[in-house]
Amino acid sequence: MLVTDLLTIEGLRTTFQTRSGEVAAVDGVDLSIARGRTLGIVGESGCGKSVLSLSIMRLVPPPGRIAAGRIMFDGRNLAELSAPEMRAIRGGRIAMIFQEPMTSLNPAFTIGDQIIEAMRAHDRTASAKSLRARAIGALERVRIAAAARRFDEYPHQMSGGMRQRVMIAMALSCEPDLLIADEPTTALDVTVQAQILDLLRTLQQQTGMAIILITHDLGVVAEMADEVAVMYAGRVVERSPGPAIFDDPQHPYTLGLLGSIPKIEEDRDRLLAIEGAVPSPFDLPPGCRFHPRCVFAEPACAEADPELREITVGHRAACRLAPLEDAVG
Ligand code: SF4
Repeated sequence: MLVTDLLTIEGLRTTFQTRSGEVAAVDGVDLSIARGRTLGIVGESGCGKSVLSLSIMRLVPPPGRIAAGRIMFDGRNLAELSAPEMRAIRGGRIAMIFQEPMTSLNPAFTIGDQIIEAMRAHDRTASAKSLRARAIGALERVRIAAAARRFDEYPHQMSGGMRQRVMIAMALSCEPDLLIADEPTTALDVTVQAQILDLLRTLQQQTGMAIILITHDLGVVAEMADEVAVMYAGRVVERSPGPAIFDDPQHPYTLGLLGSIPKIEEDRDRLLAIEGAVPSPFDLPPGCRFHPRCVFAEPACAEADPELREITVGHRAACRLAPLEDAVG
């Protein structure tokens, strides 16, 4: 069977107008995802991954704007849709969950009312009774015990993990084709994180939705993603089918991120950490944007920004030295 992409991003450039001029937080990104698949987008904070997800949702706050590129979703370019057309897609066909559900949930309303509100935005004809039944069903689907009782609770009466389940229930209540999960488990402890990831996987199998999982945590991506894109300073610097990026990283930044995964048996201080920080979009270094932090950098790296090119089938990296095994020896 031919697998066609649900979402294809081509040459996306999202910029912010500032007093010092226009800066690009996302700078020429190409990505795609098929139905039923999970794309993990990884990078440190400030690398552009959250602006990328806000661009897909057309929720980039002013003075930001999509300056160039196409966001093709099921045959339509989201970058060109009118505000009402986009509203119909947002929350209906594309839904999003964030890191801290407390900031997305309204503390003044019960969770039941908030789920119903989300449903009503896309189904104005359903009766109050059927919406209540559907909302309780949505809570049961995300494994909230005693859902009918929990329906009448307020967000502050729930744990962080429970609130994230409510957010997932709200996001999935309209049966989206694509779920964008931006650091969905970062605020949760390890056990609850594993439960939420397991829940997302199960719901994906049941519904066939595609998931874009945005995280700084390669461990989460390793567990969930069919394909991985590593972002740095607004660009994708490495892309591969899931395991390849972990078994055979081809960009020094990915290598550094992998070295930064804490392992219990290792001394944290001895881990290969990446020195320095992601550059500000106001002050990008010339040539390869990673060169000031790269342990393999050579003088030529400061001269030209390497293109993302195929190293092995389906595995691309933007490093002039790739394949790294040849370069490192
Ligand atoms: Fe490092 Fe040079 Fe490769 Fe950039 S191009 S990642 S600086 S080796």
